[in-house]
Amino acid sequence: MSDSTTLEDGRPAPPAFQTAPRAFIKSFGCQMNVYDSQRMADLAALEGFEEAVGVEDADLIVLNTCHIRERASEKIYSELGKLRELKNERRKAGRRTTLVVAGCLAQAEGAEILRRQPAVDVVVGPQSYHRLPELLRKAEVRSGVIDTDFPVEDKFSRLPASQPETTARRGVAAFVTVQEGCDKFCSFCVVPYTRGAEASRPVAAVLAEIGRLTGAGVRDVTLIGQNVNAYHGLDHAGRTTSFAGLIAAAAAVPGVRRLRYATSHPNEMSDDLIAAHRDVETLAPYLHLPVQSGSDRILASMNRRHRVGDYLDIIARARAARPDIAFSSDFIVGYPGEADDDFEETLDLVRTVGYASSFAFKYSARPGTPAAEMDGQVDEAVKLARLARLQALLEEQRHVFNGACVGRRLEVLFEKPGRHEGQVVGRSPYMQSVYAEGPLSFVGVLAEVEIIGVGPNSLRGRIVSRTS
Ligand code: SAM
Ligand code: SF4
Repeated sequence: MSDSTTLEDGRPAPPAFQTAPRAFIKSFGCQMNVYDSQRMADLAALEGFEEAVGVEDADLIVLNTCHIRERASEKIYSELGKLRELKNERRKAGRRTTLVVAGCLAQAEGAEILRRQPAVDVVVGPQSYHRLPELLRKAEVRSGVIDTDFPVEDKFSRLPASQPETTARRGVAAFVTVQEGCDKFCSFCVVPYTRGAEASRPVAAVLAEIGRLTGAGVRDVTLIGQNVNAYHGLDHAGRTTSFAGLIAAAAAVPGVRRLRYATSHPNEMSDDLIAAHRDVETLAPYLHLPVQSGSDRILASMNRRHRVGDYLDIIARARAARPDIAFSSDFIVGYPGEADDDFEETLDLVRTVGYASSFAFKYSARPGTPAAEMDGQVDEAVKLARLARLQALLEEQRHVFNGACVGRRLEVLFEKPGRHEGQVVGRSPYMQSVYAEGPLSFVGVLAEVEIIGVGPNSLRGRIVSRTS
C-alpha cells in the first residue's frame, strides 16, 4: 500500500497539481510606482500567479523602475545583471523565468534596455502596463517584447480591482492614483517625457476605489499624482472637479479617517485647496510642497514659474488656515548656474519655513531635458558639499520638530506590531513612526497618543484613548 505522498515502489509521488507560478514585483522610486506595482500584482493574480517572497521563488520578476536621477537608472542595470545570472542558472536546470522591466526607465530607454540586457523578456511603460498579460503571452513565443505607447484607452478602467483580502494584507494605509503625468516641464525633470501629459481619473472611479479600500479595512488614504493638485477630473454630470472638490468627496467616503495628498506643485495651491485644510477635518495637517530652490534666479532657470515670495505666501496662508500644519519639501542642489549666493538663499528659505522633514538631492543631468544642455554645470565636489550642508540643516529641523512633539497629544493610526512584544507602531498625522505599549487589537485603530519620548527616527507614546 502507498500513502498519498509515496508511490507503490516507495518513490515520492509527484504533486497532484502543478504548483501555481509566482510573481515578484519590485518597486523603485516614487509612490506612483508603489501604486502601479500593486496594480500589476493584482493583474498577475488574475493571471494565476501567486505572490513570491523574493526573486528566488519567483517565475515572473518585474522591476518597476525609476529614471528620475542617473543613480536610479544605473541601479536597475546592475540589478538586471544579477537577474540574468539567476535566469541562466535556472534555464540550465530546466526552469523558465520571465523578466519584465516596467516604469519610467522602460519608457525612457525602451529598446536600449534589450540591447544592454538581452535577458529581459518584456519592456513596458507606465501607461501601458494594463496590457501586461498579453505582453507576457507574446513573450512566450518571442523574447524582447516592447510596449512604450501612450495608448488612447483608459488604463485604469482596464485594471482589475484588488481583492479585499489582498487589500487587507497590504495594511491600513493605501495610495490611490488620481492624476498622472505632468505639463509643467521643469527644465531638470524627465517626468513629462516618461509619464506623459497631465490626465485625471473621473471622480466616480476614484471614489469607488476608495470605497473598496475602506471596505477592506483601509483608514488612511493618500491621493497621489505627479502633480496631484492639478487634478481636474470629471464628475458624473461631466463637470470638471477641482482637487479641493475631490478631497471633499473623498473625505465623505465612509471609513476614511485620514486623507493625505502628494505631490503638489506650488502653482496649483488654489484658495479652495488651502481652505480644505481648514474645513476638512480628516485632511492631515501635513503638506509636502516641493520648492527645489530658494533663489529666484534658479527658480526661473528651472522653469518653476513661481518666486520664493509666492511660496512663502502659500506657507503663510496654509498656516493661517490650519495652525498645526507642518511642511516638507524637495530641494535640488548644484543645479546648472547655482552660485554660492543662490545656495545660501536656499538655506535662508529653509530657516524661514522650518520643515518637519524634507528630501535634498544633488542635481543629476538627465538626457533630453533642457538643463542637461545648460552652461554652468556645477562641479561634483561643490554639489556634494552643498548637499551635506543642506541635509545637516534639514536633519536639525527634523529633530527640532520631533522634539517639539513631546508633551503633545497626536492622533496615531496604528499599523502593525512593534519590535517588542506588547508594542504597536503607527503613524502620526506628520508621518512620524510612533511606538506605544498596546495590544495587537489596536492595529487599524486610531488613538489619541501622548508623546513621551523621541528617538532618532521615531517617537514614543502613551495611548490615552481610542478615537475609532
Ligand atoms: N512633481 C513633483 C514636484 O514638482 O515637486 C516632484 C516629482 S519628482 C518625482 C520628485 C523630486 O525629484 C523633485 O521634486 C525633485 O526635487 C527631484 N528631481 C527631479 N529631477 C531631478 C534631477 N534631474 N536631479 C535631481 N533631482 C531631481
Ligand atoms: Fe517634474 Fe516639475 Fe512636473 Fe514635478 S512639476 S513632475 S518636478 S516637471
